[in-house]
Amino acid sequence: MASDAPARVLALAGGVGAARFLAGLVRAMPPEDIAVIVNTGDDMDFYGVHVSPDVDIVTYTLAGRVDRKRGYGIEGDTTAIVDTLGALGHETWFRLGDRDFAHCHHRSLRMRDGVGLGAIADELRRAQGVASRILVMSEDPCPTQVVLAGERRVHFEEYLARDGAPDDVTDVDLSAAQRARPGPGVLDAIAHAETILFCPSNPIVSIGPILAVPGVREAIAAARAPVVAISPIIGGAPVKGPADRLMRGLGHEVSARGVAALYGDLLDGYVLDTRDADHAAAVEASGVRTTVVETLMRSPEIATDLARHTLALADAIRASE
Ligand code: GDP
Ligand code: CA
Repeated sequence: MASDAPARVLALAGGVGAARFLAGLVRAMPPEDIAVIVNTGDDMDFYGVHVSPDVDIVTYTLAGRVDRKRGYGIEGDTTAIVDTLGALGHETWFRLGDRDFAHCHHRSLRMRDGVGLGAIADELRRAQGVASRILVMSEDPCPTQVVLAGERRVHFEEYLARDGAPDDVTDVDLSAAQRARPGPGVLDAIAHAETILFCPSNPIVSIGPILAVPGVREAIAAARAPVVAISPIIGGAPVKGPADRLMRGLGHEVSARGVAALYGDLLDGYVLDTRDADHAAAVEASGVRTTVVETLMRSPEIATDLARHTLALADAIRASE
């Protein structure tokens, strides 16, 4: 059965940046030949339901129903649930829409029945007509903690959505992911992929947790597939989000070159923006093939072109091996 065949292209993904790219990738190749391993380090219970922010962003985007302005949530969703909870005195900084809430409530009910996070993600993507496979990096709890000055620790969603991403970051704690087991199908997908992509996602808190799950980094290093990443940094700054604060806090250079250095030996290819063309030579010098193109995905057409260039680089690397 075609749907059980291993996916040709496997992508590692966080939320918004990844989803924008994946929306282009499904226009550049058959969506059923794609599998995505999604970060679950951002998962957290809100209002009594299990929210998987990155899994839901990727699913809603590939289903064509994401709120495009925000990049997350469902287009046209209402907020009666959080507004009502707010009126009753609950903290409502995590603005979960009503339909979004229903999906997360479904997830929680299924978990209560003993169904794993991976099978539930698969149900949810099928129910929304998404042809690409969506795998969770792990079914075990993997909360990413951000450590701030004074040893203050907060969950990543508290850091980002509640506290507005302050810049006194001293560390990022991935120890839960480091003790977790890979999600169903993850190691198999890595072993059988023809191409492995790291989406233009936050390298520290989106791709980082996936690579921290024991066995994942090793499987990618051992995979026959070329590994190609797309830089989430353009002109020395993230397009959106706290990647700069987290990278700086951990002592990494905030640049296209800095992200490539973070991924290190895992990379065979790297796609960076025309604004960062002067970083290509340094990346090439570390033995990584590069492509320099427009990577700011202002439209689905640009995302599709970016996906085509990325696949072409992977094909060229495979052909030269
Ligand atoms: P999150 O989990 O929602 O934060 O999403 P990701 O980790 O997948 O993506 C966040 C990263 O996406 C940020 O570092 C952004 O710089 C990057 N990003 C967002 N939009 C774009 C874009 O159009 N082009 C590129 N190259 N990166 C982008
Ligand atoms: Ca995220």
